[in-house]
Amino acid sequence: MARIAIDIDSTLHHYWDLLARIAHERFNVRLSYEEQHDWGITVLEREQLTAAVHETHSDRNIESGVPYPGAAEAVRRWHEAGHWIHVTSHRRESCDAATRRWLKAQEIPYDDLHCSFDKVSRCVELGVDILVDDSPVNIRAALERGMLAATLIHPWNVQVLGEPGVISADEWSQLEKRVDEALKTGD
Ligand SMILES: [Mg+2]
Repeated sequence: MARIAIDIDSTLHHYWDLLARIAHERFNVRLSYEEQHDWGITVLEREQLTAAVHETHSDRNIESGVPYPGAAEAVRRWHEAGHWIHVTSHRRESCDAATRRWLKAQEIPYDDLHCSFDKVSRCVELGVDILVDDSPVNIRAALERGMLAATLIHPWNVQVLGEPGVISADEWSQLEKRVDEALKTGD
């Protein structure tokens, strides 16, 4: 059985629309999904970006997330198969309760939840085998620490997709299948 860590934003549910809406409402800045080709968002000032991301993680916004088709089902199947599920999100610890309510409402099972800004080092401590995360920074860090990585394909992570140890797909049913194959090979 494997230890699987799973990110939330842009992994379990779409996040960009929410961030883009807040950036537009608060700062009148347009964030283009298609043109976001790397991890850094430079069209916002640093404090603006921090404030916008903060607002995406209000209780109400957290609880409004709609999972990508097949995402909750995939996690359920992994959990039922006996894999250990660590949900991990780059958000404040104070988001823990709302995040738990969201996971419960979506019937996404998990063994452990970590809301914080030290995702990969926590995964190392927990002996995680594979990190499912859209961030190229986290993907590279996971690979460096000997983990596999898996991600939905987004414009900002295309540069890591060809790297050994990176599993990717356009949608969850494919991603689930490819992760299953990789875990089988790794047994
Ligand atoms: Mg993410």
